[in-house]
Amino acid sequence: MPPGNRVTGDHISARKCRVIPHLISYLLLYHSYSASLACFETSNSAGTMAHSGKVTAMEKVFHFDSASEPYVADAAVLCCFDQRIRLAVHKFLQRQGILRPDMIVVAGGAKTLASPRNDFERDFILEQVRMSILLHRTERVFLMSHSDCATYGGLAAFGGNPEKEALHHRQELRRAAQLIQDKFPEVRVERFFINFEGIFAAAEQGVEQVA
Ligand SMILES: [Zn+2]
Repeated sequence: MPPGNRVTGDHISARKCRVIPHLISYLLLYHSYSASLACFETSNSAGTMAHSGKVTAMEKVFHFDSASEPYVADAAVLCCFDQRIRLAVHKFLQRQGILRPDMIVVAGGAKTLASPRNDFERDFILEQVRMSILLHRTERVFLMSHSDCATYGGLAAFGGNPEKEALHHRQELRRAAQLIQDKFPEVRVERFFINFEGIFAAAEQGVEQVA
């Protein structure tokens, strides 16, 4: 037998090393499969139990327990639906203690107030803020816009100049904040600009990074 084919203790333990992780993965997979089956059974039975007050008119396709108590919103948050900023916004809000936000997520975010495409767009957003205040006693409004936002034509619309873009957004945020403050003088308005490195508070004298 050529030396390369010889089965040695090293070969066996190396083989074991390869097999054991497979076994573990298989067991984990089987466990999660069993668990998902159990969940499926739970959701099926929950979906057909009319006497327990559960919904029977529709088929339950996902089970998740959510808090059902009414809440006071920590803030109404207007931001763009751009997926690239979603996680940053989520983490930032948590860091700020905004655990129950009323999210108003639309293309352009604060642009819908500062430079809306039409009156309908602006009025619709104002109505959303009004509903948040009315229904969830919101006292703070966060207005957000972000770098490379497609509704502005991206960073390219500012000649690829991030500073020029940030200055423009600061003006936009100020205009949006003024509108909210005029309509709802009782709320506190805060303005933020998001780029791919963090979130900045749009202060009058510049843009200060806050996260
Ligand atoms: Zn955007």
